[in-house]
Amino acid sequence: MQVALCDVGPRDGLQNDALVLEPAVRAELCDRLAATGLPRIECGSFVNPKVVPQMAGAEEVFAGLHRVDGVVYAALALNGRGVERAVAAGVDEVHLAYPLSDTFCARNQNTTLAEAAAAHEAMIAAAHAAGVRASVTLGASFGCPFEGPVPEARVIEHVERMARSGADEIMLADTIGVGVPKQVRSLVPAALRAAAGIPIGLHLHNTRNTGYANADAGIESGATIFDASIGGLGGCPFAPRATGNIATEDLVYLLDGLGVETGVDLAALISVAEWLAGVLGRDLPGQLYKAGPFIPAG
Ligand code: ZN
Repeated sequence: MQVALCDVGPRDGLQNDALVLEPAVRAELCDRLAATGLPRIECGSFVNPKVVPQMAGAEEVFAGLHRVDGVVYAALALNGRGVERAVAAGVDEVHLAYPLSDTFCARNQNTTLAEAAAAHEAMIAAAHAAGVRASVTLGASFGCPFEGPVPEARVIEHVERMARSGADEIMLADTIGVGVPKQVRSLVPAALRAAAGIPIGLHLHNTRNTGYANADAGIESGATIFDASIGGLGGCPFAPRATGNIATEDLVYLLDGLGVETGVDLAALISVAEWLAGVLGRDLPGQLYKAGPFIPAG
């Protein structure tokens, strides 16, 4: 069995950090991640730098990359202008995302959920017209910070709608880390049925320490793409009390043990986490880079 991992640390991780890293340092992080064998990296977001200053200069990040053949360099865009900027900067794949509640959509982008879904149909078409793949993330699929539980029927309705609109894949996001494995085992198979052949992935946060259990349940349930962030860095500027994504290296350790192929060199990934902790001047939430891989003491 094989899954595709996407490191979202340079975007989901850094966008919520108190430290604003220069584009050149963010490009170096992407290069270091690409060297570990990760097939996909979310290098930044093309959003208004006044709203998310940590992501300013996304064009410079892309210009500064030393691209590795076969690695997909992706970026997040939240509106048509963002898609245009991402395409112009040379992304391989645009990541689109909207949360599945009216209140979250209003706070995030000043739209209703219905307006957000319609806008995303247009953005998928715009990406495809430019020859770029479009991945759609359905935010708050496991619960909304403002409205509480999100009905599974609503998630499936949007999976169906985005699949019909030509999304190349659909990611179910536990944006605020409230999900439990039982939800994963219910949502992922239902989403796979609704998506009619389009891959379903998971974007998990470890806010309540259920992220890795949810990843395990996702593997069992047929999810084939997983977002994670190096060192477990992360949060969400629009979601109160959200904390980091599951850590890429902790996830790779788990997947290696399950016999799931990722193509990622765990030791190399640990080195990147150590490097990033040095750049940020603090410990990161990930645990594996501190504990080390399982090597019995001689
Ligand atoms: Zn996230």
